Amino acid sequence: MLECGDSLLLKAGQQVFGPYDITPGAGHFWKAVGQCKLELPRCRECGCYSHPRQESCQVCYSPELAWQGVSGEGEVYTYSVVYRSTDPARETPHALGFVRLKEDVHLFAELRPWQRVRIGVPVRAAFVGGTGGTMLVFDAGG
Ligand SMILES: [Zn+2]
Repeated sequence: MLECGDSLLLKAGQQVFGPYDITPGAGHFWKAVGQCKLELPRCRECGCYSHPRQESCQVCYSPELAWQGVSGEGEVYTYSVVYRSTDPARETPHALGFVRLKEDVHLFAELRPWQRVRIGVPVRAAFVGGTGGTMLVFDAGG
């Protein structure tokens, strides 16, 4: 868990995706992604999903949160196409953006293929292997 004053910046050569536990629950999230599953914290009181995980529900403030599998289906909420990456090993162009899941939760991830990405386009979670492990991306079809 982070302490006040800790840096969130990654040092050169570190992985850029999981399994990190830099915030409460991040380790669980990335462990599930490593098993090709998408799980998010859900409030046992009101049923709302909270992401990123908080100590309590963002709606009713109940501390009773449990991990639950979600559909992985949603639509592009917003995005950006990256033409010059800070990582020279990264293929460009590629698209990064927020997806709004059917469960009304927003997730940030790479969107593929970048040529098909537009606001409102339906997407589905996909899990791809990378140099740092399994990565969550959203597939826009095609
Ligand atoms: Zn709640």
